Amino acid sequence: IPVDPFDLVVIGGTGDLARRKILPALYRRFCAGQMPEGAQVIGAARTEMDDAGYRDFVGAALDEYAQPAGCAERARFLDMLGYVTLDALGDQGWSDLAARLDEGRVRAFYFSVGPALFGPLAERLQRHGMAGADTRIVVEKPFGRDLASARALNTDLARYFTEGQIYRIDHYLGKETVQNLMAIRFGNMLFEPLWNSQYVDHIQITVAETIGVDGRGEYYERAGAMRDMVQNHLMQLLCLIAMEPPAKFDPDAVRDEKLKVIRALDPVKPDDVVRGQYLADGGRPGFREHVGNAESTTESFIALKARISNWRWAGTPFYLRTGKRLRARTSEIAVVFKDTPHSIFGPEAGQHRNILTIRLQPNEGIDLGVTIKEPGPGGMRLVDVPLDMTFAQALGPEAEDVPDAYERLIMDVIRGNQTLFMRGDEVEAAWAWTDPIIAGWTEGAGAPLPYDTGSAGPDEALALMHRDGRAWREIR
Ligand code: NAD
Repeated sequence: IPVDPFDLVVIGGTGDLARRKILPALYRRFCAGQMPEGAQVIGAARTEMDDAGYRDFVGAALDEYAQPAGCAERARFLDMLGYVTLDALGDQGWSDLAARLDEGRVRAFYFSVGPALFGPLAERLQRHGMAGADTRIVVEKPFGRDLASARALNTDLARYFTEGQIYRIDHYLGKETVQNLMAIRFGNMLFEPLWNSQYVDHIQITVAETIGVDGRGEYYERAGAMRDMVQNHLMQLLCLIAMEPPAKFDPDAVRDEKLKVIRALDPVKPDDVVRGQYLADGGRPGFREHVGNAESTTESFIALKARISNWRWAGTPFYLRTGKRLRARTSEIAVVFKDTPHSIFGPEAGQHRNILTIRLQPNEGIDLGVTIKEPGPGGMRLVDVPLDMTFAQALGPEAEDVPDAYERLIMDVIRGNQTLFMRGDEVEAAWAWTDPIIAGWTEGAGAPLPYDTGSAGPDEALALMHRDGRAWREIR
């Protein structure tokens, strides 16, 4: 869908996120023909630089991070770029920035800086006349570190912008498969009637990474896996799996339903949480070395059992886990259906279950495990086989070219579509659920359990499911 010419200002335009994600995403949209003639992208940060310097800087970032390599008209993309030296906490650069923007078109300010600067930036945008009705602001995670700080951020932003102008990014929502999850649920008759505790035994959400926290130790030591991953990304996935069908696919209808899920979550019992820290491995430092604190009690792994107390889900647990330096880089949601009420094939046929797996990475796709007869003359032996819907396979090469999450989300900001962004009350509700869990361990539940690099986390995480007669899916 074409968009009108716009001004996009990336505040923090020389930072890591801008280089790795935001600017390459804009470039790919340009190559896809989606950046209209006359659109302007302005980097703004403390570093002293001019337009030409910034174009070189972005060119180098594209060389490093824009995959596939892009298109022939790269110079024309770089021509759309400008730069303003700006101090978020002072006066420098603000009138220059205002002078660069065009009247009467959509303007978006992407706050690619830490949350301490969100309030000061919003205030200065207004003071310098850049906070009109056509202005949108995009804010990155972390949106606070607890309920109180998230509330304070929301209050600060609300002084200058309406909720309809604030785009809180959770890039998981921009992933193709995550949106496909909604298509699967609400575009098919097949799944929705079974989508409840009567038919679903449990749901597992796993986000496993192989990397450690190298280079981000300082931030991570203060955050931990619960704040960095569960409160936002895993919570958003849980909401999309568990929510009631919205009446329309529109921002508030979808976000209202997600909010109801978060509010229906039970408090998590301390026994239902396992935290871990990765150990040093063959010369590679462990978590405590990475964060520079030999007594760190921050978790690089967490597994927990969540319960949703509502009509649909009472009795169906949601098991969530995420961690660093695990066996494989894999993210998936598995909806594990119940056993058939009675096996007509006798006990030797074994236990078989349907599992719907939504894979976020690698190989984005969805597969449904179904039970069939093992081919051959050996009698009625059953096997589980996947009905696989890898998008690239089913839809041809075009499906391999799906836009990356940031591409989609940035274009949604320009189009003014908030469906895939978190509303303020959602973020607060998520913290309200997370805070007591964190308080549980800061009040003396002890240090996280050590685990080996390349494992599936501490053994106690496996026990969390075993004691319920269930098992995690393998991380591979
Ligand atoms: P960074 O430290 O690499 O970059 C920060 C940018 O902000 C730089 O351009 C810097 O010049 C600018 N800046 C800092 N103080 C300023 C001031 N007073 N006035 C003007 N500009 C100022 O940080 P980053 O990794 O790019 O992260 C930016 C934000 O995005 C953070 O909130 C971070 O938590 C979040 N985030 C980052 C990643 C990532 O992969 N890097 C992922 C998700 C979220």
